[in-house]
Amino acid sequence: MAFKILIVEDEPDFRIVLVEYLQLKGYEAKGIASVAEYQSLKDPDSYDLIILDRTLPDGDGLVILEAHRKRSESPVIILSGLGELDERVKGLEADADYYLVKPFKMLELLAIVSRYARRQKNQTPGQAYWSINRRQRALTSPCGLTMNLTNMELAFLNCFRDAEGVSISREDIVSQLGHQANVYDYRRLQTMVSRLRLKVKEAGMSELPLESIYGDGYTYKARLIALDA
Ligand code: CA
Repeated sequence: MAFKILIVEDEPDFRIVLVEYLQLKGYEAKGIASVAEYQSLKDPDSYDLIILDRTLPDGDGLVILEAHRKRSESPVIILSGLGELDERVKGLEADADYYLVKPFKMLELLAIVSRYARRQKNQTPGQAYWSINRRQRALTSPCGLTMNLTNMELAFLNCFRDAEGVSISREDIVSQLGHQANVYDYRRLQTMVSRLRLKVKEAGMSELPLESIYGDGYTYKARLIALDA
């Protein structure tokens, strides 16, 4: 499958040049011109890489970066005329993977793009993921160790299935566990999570890649899939 690139650039001639150049180099490239267009994309998560301008007619491209980061780990290259140190720092702090200042050479952009494409190709699919087996009520770590789960632990982990890096609110989790979020005692959830972390540790697995967002929810920082065999 071709490496899919989204180009966000409001200058039409330049956008067309970028799209055509990358297509010529064998990539699947699509161009859009604004934050609004990004927000109306049907499949914003399907891109393997985003090339992002900052000065857009309806806002700073960093808004797109922020929205993208909430649901995807795929790399973002900022391509901007805003080249001052504090602007570049702002971009990198917003979790851009690369900040390329205009004017730049196409060859340099191509080198960066092909590095990310190569990196993705080298990630063997199916490698390094956690899995839950809903029928057997079990959790398996990336290195193949397995342990049993309680119904509540299973329902909890099931919330993070196919949602790597996505933060899930504790209200959503609690309602998926079959409770009413407005009357639920969240300490129960915390206790269950602490026990689960300990169980994982005692099973000799690598640490549970679950990040707590204080007072808000949790993020599973690795791929978690569900098997039902
Ligand atoms: Ca611009």
